[in-house]
Amino acid sequence: MKKLTKTAVSLSENLMGFIDDSPTPFHAVQNMSTVLKLAGFEELKEKEQWEIKPGNRYFVTREDASIAAWITGSHSPARHGFRIVGAHTDSPNLKIKPNPDIQKEDYQQLGVEVYGGVLLSSWADRDLSLAGRVITTDKNNKTLRKLFLKVDRAVLRIPLLCVHLNRDVNTLGLILNPQKHLAPVFGLKSKVEDPLRRFLSKELKTEPDQIVDYDLSLYDVQKSNFLGLSEEFVAAPRLDNLFSCFCGLEALLALNQKKQPFQKTCMMVAFDNEEIGSLTTQGARSSFLKGIINRINHSFSDGPSQAYERSLASSVFLSADMAHALHPNYPERHDPQHFPRINGGPVIKINAQGRYATSGYTSAAFQLICKRRRIPFQKFVNRTDLACGSTIGPFVASDLGIPSLDVGAAQLSMHSIREMCGSADAYYMIEAFKGFYEDA
Ligand SMILES: [Zn+2]
Repeated sequence: MKKLTKTAVSLSENLMGFIDDSPTPFHAVQNMSTVLKLAGFEELKEKEQWEIKPGNRYFVTREDASIAAWITGSHSPARHGFRIVGAHTDSPNLKIKPNPDIQKEDYQQLGVEVYGGVLLSSWADRDLSLAGRVITTDKNNKTLRKLFLKVDRAVLRIPLLCVHLNRDVNTLGLILNPQKHLAPVFGLKSKVEDPLRRFLSKELKTEPDQIVDYDLSLYDVQKSNFLGLSEEFVAAPRLDNLFSCFCGLEALLALNQKKQPFQKTCMMVAFDNEEIGSLTTQGARSSFLKGIINRINHSFSDGPSQAYERSLASSVFLSADMAHALHPNYPERHDPQHFPRINGGPVIKINAQGRYATSGYTSAAFQLICKRRRIPFQKFVNRTDLACGSTIGPFVASDLGIPSLDVGAAQLSMHSIREMCGSADAYYMIEAFKGFYEDA
């Protein structure tokens, strides 16, 4: 393969930094917010009155886990519409149960629930830690506070049963029962009461009885890195879908560098909870995006009536999520004419059952963008005899009625604790998103 350009390498390095700093959607949204503020985007709050000015840049978050950022067009969306890149901030993981402390045999363990379609075996024998959001109260039990937590060292492990006590494991396969086999070891039996609460209070420098509740997940402390003969791969956790969050944000920030304002409004939105079906307060099936579109339309005082409907009809939604690259050991799992390649550029995802939002027309428009900018692209269709996964694309497309398409970068090991993708693909994807914002 061609030598990677400096730009592609440094973009992949930045992607890895973002992923390592973002073990949970809370952290991803916080990190994106920080970058947006530095780039001059103003933070809006959903409960406040918005004064949106043409040409100005804004962002808003919901439940600390979903975020939307946009550069308001110089003209009303009713006339020029929105160009929206959508992704998701969440990844499959193991979440800590509310009554977490388990004492079993000699060990102290934590109870966990499975979030999304976790490739369970990949979480075993890894150096794990805790991250998420902890809700504390003040000394008088009057007000609640949200504290973000990221414990930077390994404290947990889900140990596999050794091969000597599980002789058939390599012939019959590893079967993990989520209730029985996933509780990570947190130490040897502890004599203190509520060991997790005590641990959290030490980490957060607060009193144990001030911790009221939490949204905590396990994560792997191993940092992301390049991999391969010519460093042609990126090995990292949560590429699905922090890769697309990163690329969407980079493309919007690149647009922000341009001097002339755009007529249309360009937006990137990243939703939480895609991995569990999106039907939550801040998921892609919530009112989050709809509310923002409504409020932007309202702020154009010259906007005629029916502005909302007109703005949607003039818009395009690009749902960005990862795609399954051809696996060298399982090539038969792909359609022989439609298998994505790593470092082969954006993958247009098509499904006859509507599991992806792409149509022949939206696909053609995207192909023209790529051709004009000399970005390679490819097409993915699942094997006809295998069930296809889905994305936020069909939800947003059907709810808002915006012409949409599904695009993603090729990766291996999707939903594993450690995934891999191509180190040139972040560059291609960002260039394609820039083209989408400017030309679609
Ligand atoms: Zn995904």
